[in-house]
Amino acid sequence: MQITDQKSLLSKEQLSLLKRCAKKTFVLGRYHSLDEILTKLNVEVIIEPGIQQRSIPSYLEESEKYWIDRLEEITDRDSMEFTDIRDDIRIIRREKELWRNMPLRGLYDPKNNIIKLFPEEMQTEYNGKCMDELLVSTLAHETMHAYFNRPRHKRMPYVLFVEEPLAEFGMLLYLKETRSSYYGWAHKDVSSKKTCYRYGAALMDQYLQGEASLRDYLKSYKIQLEDYVIPSCWNGTISLPQSGLSGSIVVGGKKVIPQWHGFFYDKQTETLGLDGDWRGRCVFDFMQERGRIYSYEKLKNIYIADGFRCDGHAYTLFSEKNVIVSPNNKTYKQGSNDIPLLRKDNTPCIEQNVDGLYKICRNGLWGVVDKQQNIIVPIKYGFVYTMDANELIMVVCPDFPPCQCGLVNRQGIEQVPLIYEQIAIKSDGTYRVKKSGKEYIIDKYGNRIH
Ligand SMILES: [Zn+2]
Repeated sequence: MQITDQKSLLSKEQLSLLKRCAKKTFVLGRYHSLDEILTKLNVEVIIEPGIQQRSIPSYLEESEKYWIDRLEEITDRDSMEFTDIRDDIRIIRREKELWRNMPLRGLYDPKNNIIKLFPEEMQTEYNGKCMDELLVSTLAHETMHAYFNRPRHKRMPYVLFVEEPLAEFGMLLYLKETRSSYYGWAHKDVSSKKTCYRYGAALMDQYLQGEASLRDYLKSYKIQLEDYVIPSCWNGTISLPQSGLSGSIVVGGKKVIPQWHGFFYDKQTETLGLDGDWRGRCVFDFMQERGRIYSYEKLKNIYIADGFRCDGHAYTLFSEKNVIVSPNNKTYKQGSNDIPLLRKDNTPCIEQNVDGLYKICRNGLWGVVDKQQNIIVPIKYGFVYTMDANELIMVVCPDFPPCQCGLVNRQGIEQVPLIYEQIAIKSDGTYRVKKSGKEYIIDKYGNRIH
């Protein structure tokens, strides 16, 4: 790493700190340290005097204009696209406001392939007491930009809303993985920012909570992204946009060119495409939130993209729609035997009834299948309930009201016929039932006791 400090703005200790930290092992792509990234990419680090006035990046001006133009093209003002773009413009305008007063600790100049650090600016922050933290974290942040700009990625666009949070994420990852004592400070510093930089701390949290794909995203960045994309932030969870080069997909014989923003909706084929990590997020809630377009009834197909993973909440939804799974998805594969989605170990990806049994819905009718996808309770009921202590499943006639229910056993046999308006299990294993307004007690074989 070549570091130039002509005006001797840094002490000997500070210079050697930077060099020492840059040498620490940190694997990113084919590089093994910040030092290696900077050396192999021929990036010079310059310690620059003075305080640089930050101007609003042209990217923000351009993207605001781009989205305003796009908004004007949309005639349907109730459409989700319209709402989304209007929200994006709001985010860009707020960001522009915030960038006006942001201190410039450092920068990466891709044209001259240099990193500049501004220690005199850093002196004005934290009462000048965090120089070491600021120097090291800024060097790491700018090194990320240099890494993103490695030769074969030169032609990819700079996407501010992705690259800045990602540079912060990379910086935090570097501090964490080199066991730096500055990590806690830096995480707090990033979290406290008001601009999109703060997403970097959220990404780090998501990574530590198991979203391992974020490290791959960082490693392979830059990727080809749509023009002026903004990553979606949903309940504090950041979904980074996927590569626009993923190309078209075919749904029901029709070609769809998805505009991924973590998800897409294609009106023509009534397809909702889902990508990214949905743990802790519920696809169903998402559908309701975006209800005007992704109305549940209207939706025909669900396309599961390469990176899609989710928790239990989405399974009911999947069991009622036509699901198409990308063959490259790491977690799921296309199901069979009426089960739309299977995990890679072949277990059904639908709501569990009890251990090893699953509730399945087809064309509005419900049944139960086992782990091997054998049908246990035929798919012909209005609803199936959870298996009780007698290993019986309450089922309801499909054409209720009036409600007529009975009990089905593990062999799928109706052990108690569907003649009761109500059935409730008691603690002694008998059932309190109601028929024509009268109450009885029956045993688990349907014999009347009282
Ligand atoms: Zn930056």
